Amino acid sequence: MSTETSALQFTVNATDHRMPPAERQRLLADPGFGRVFTDHMVRIDWNRARGWHNAEVLGYAPLQLDPAVTVLHYAQAVFEGLKAFRQEAGGIAVFRPDAHAARFRRSARRLALPELPESVFIEAIDRLMTIDGEWVPSAPEQSMYLRPFMFGSEVGLGVRPSSEVTFLLIGSPSGSYFPGGVKPVTVWLSEDFSRAAPGGTGAAKTGGNYAGGLLAQAQAAEQGCDQVVWLDSQEHRWVEEMGGMNLCFVFGSGRKARLMTPALTGTLLPGVTRDSLLTLARDLGYEAEEGKISTEEWRTGCADGSLTEVFACGTAAVITPVGAVKSAHGSWTVGDGKPGDISMRLRQSLVEIQRGLAPDPHGWLHRVAL
Ligand SMILES: *Cc1c(COP(=O)(O)O)cnc(C)c1O
Repeated sequence: MSTETSALQFTVNATDHRMPPAERQRLLADPGFGRVFTDHMVRIDWNRARGWHNAEVLGYAPLQLDPAVTVLHYAQAVFEGLKAFRQEAGGIAVFRPDAHAARFRRSARRLALPELPESVFIEAIDRLMTIDGEWVPSAPEQSMYLRPFMFGSEVGLGVRPSSEVTFLLIGSPSGSYFPGGVKPVTVWLSEDFSRAAPGGTGAAKTGGNYAGGLLAQAQAAEQGCDQVVWLDSQEHRWVEEMGGMNLCFVFGSGRKARLMTPALTGTLLPGVTRDSLLTLARDLGYEAEEGKISTEEWRTGCADGSLTEVFACGTAAVITPVGAVKSAHGSWTVGDGKPGDISMRLRQSLVEIQRGLAPDPHGWLHRVAL
């Protein structure tokens, strides 16, 4: 697999069909999530003989795919999700693209895809944001969601790592995840289905993990729940994640509060938000650690008041409080069912760094040179 290719030359072929500014403004007023896309995309090709080549910025457009390409049959594909924010002092900054680039490489390795050098991943983002910067919304809670992804594009039904791969980057302006203010979710503890098993692909950001989770999500909805919580696949006892987000548990309150997030056992996705919040919690003076929590401990902790807050975290929604839990064995409320103080304080701290409203002591923001 090719890894560090020397500098790749990007060709810029700007589209003649940019959206008129008035129409763009209309879409940016209420973009929602994942339904509005910018004028351009980035494409880079890979094949076994040449490595990464043909790096191009071009108009956003449908792809033409042979019906026999690898990805459509064997799901050889990985993706990332990260955000760019309009900064208080002007300009655009991307949150931790280096961490996302590194995870993209690890995901690729697991799916037997070539690893895109981190410098190329970041240059692709810089190029897209430079040409489509006007699409980055400016209202609080709005941002540019960036979706880099790659897939096996060799034509043929043989089962083997694709000898041709396509990388694409698209950008989707997104609105507030919680238009009416942060709202706690009710979760369903899934004991019928597993998201990931030891030795599987749980730690890779790959669409197959999501496809396998859709039925469980539908079952959660049938139970009147917003989201599914994944438990370990062997005992269905140890808490792993919630939908496409990591989970964090808060014990105690005030200055003595302690945060705990399930350790990365290989079946969890190592979230960049999770990692950022562990760091921020320590910056704020809380104890924060990785550990293990069972569904019984979740229930008894809520009953005796030692477990005060639970939240899910991920790039799209930052922090989503968990207000109530349902399972085949019973239901309970977390705290008073409302967003917790520590969850909201952490959320605020992270959002302020992302928007350039607070100092960035860990160097998480990557400024786009416009
Ligand atoms: C992307 C993802 C997360 C969150 O990762 P972030 O880097 O924080 O966005 C958590 N769990 C799953 C399954 C994911 O796919």
